[in-house]
Amino acid sequence: MGIFAKIAAGEIPSYKCAENDEFYAFLDINPLAKGHTLCIPRREVDYIFDMDDDELARFQVFAKHVAVALRRACPCVKVGQAVLGLEVPHAHIHLVPMQSEKDMQFSNPKLQLPQEEMQAIAAKIFDEYQKL
Ligand code: 5GP
Repeated sequence: MGIFAKIAAGEIPSYKCAENDEFYAFLDINPLAKGHTLCIPRREVDYIFDMDDDELARFQVFAKHVAVALRRACPCVKVGQAVLGLEVPHAHIHLVPMQSEKDMQFSNPKLQLPQEEMQAIAAKIFDEYQKL
C-alpha cells in the first residue's frame, strides 16, 4: 500500500480535515499556506484523469465541500485548487487558502508549523466540515 492509502486507512498518522466512505482530506505536511489541504480517494489510483467520470465527479464534489469548510476555518480571498501528482503517485487535489496568486506557487518555500498549530487548523476544518 502507498503512503497516501495508508494515511486514509489510519495506518500512518495525519491531520484529518474531512472524510467519507470514499474520500479523505488531511493537511499537507509542507504547506504553501496555513490550511493547505490534500483530498484523496481511499482507493489507490495514481493519475486523477484515470478515474472514471462518476468517481471523478464525486471526488470533485468532496473537494468542494472541503474547500467550503476550509474557507470558513481559514479566512482567505478564495481557496485555490491544483493537481500536480509528480511527487506522490496517488491521486490528490491540493486546496490552498489564497490571499493572492503568489500563494499557489508550488516553488515557494513551504511553511513549517508547530504540531499544535497543525492540529488546531485541522480540527477547525473538521469542525466546519461536520457542520455542512
Ligand atoms: P505532488 O505529488 O502533488 O507534487 O505533491 C505531493 C504533496 O504531498 C506535497 O505537497 C507534499 O508536501 C505532500 N506530502 C508528501 N508526503 C506527505 C505525507 O507523508 N504526509 C502529508 N500530510 N503530506 C505529504
